[in-house]
Amino acid sequence: MRVVLATRNAAKLEEVAAIVGVDAEVLGLDAFGVVDLPAEDGATYEENALAKGRAVARALGLAALADDSGLEVAALGGAPGVRSSRYAGPACDPRANNEKLLRELAAVPPEKRQARFVCVAALVTPGGGEWLARGEVAGRIAAAPRGEGGFGYDPVFVPAAYERTFAEMTPEEKNRLSHRGRAFSEIKKYLRENSSL
Ligand code: IMP
Repeated sequence: MRVVLATRNAAKLEEVAAIVGVDAEVLGLDAFGVVDLPAEDGATYEENALAKGRAVARALGLAALADDSGLEVAALGGAPGVRSSRYAGPACDPRANNEKLLRELAAVPPEKRQARFVCVAALVTPGGGEWLARGEVAGRIAAAPRGEGGFGYDPVFVPAAYERTFAEMTPEEKNRLSHRGRAFSEIKKYLRENSSL
């Protein structure tokens, strides 16, 4: 089975392919020509994930996977949340996002730096079938960035019961714990149950 992940983010493609790749060949949008993705301006992860999945399934006539995800920081009332990629501005620069986050939390002590990653994954078929799954992982924001792996906020996120950031873990460790790992493990079940998509 071939499915297309609605992303041009190579790190995300690698993660999702590692999670569902046993059951399906996962291609990114870079394997195709121009595919217009909708602006991610929905109020919820669900809306954004479905909008991306529908756009790709319609444009390519193939089963599409999509996800929308974000980091929710308790001391910031749940921000940056659904706006995580653009937190420090429209350039979507991960380093600037991390710097802004650490600046905002400069006066917040370690015990009040709780955060969670949320991921909503969607599977959309050209025939109109739609499945959604949500995954979360709790943790806290580190005092400074550490590690070279992963992407986005990984260098500043320490999952609960660990001392290392996601960026200091192997891809396998991160996928076992992560919001994306959890959401796409559910989606993997749907793929297995609908292997003729
Ligand atoms: P989107 O799901 O592509 O809209 O991206 C949401 C944003 O949330 C990303 O650009 C990252 O800033 C952040 N994010 C989502 N998942 C992760 C993750 O696994 N690690 C680090 N940052 C993430």
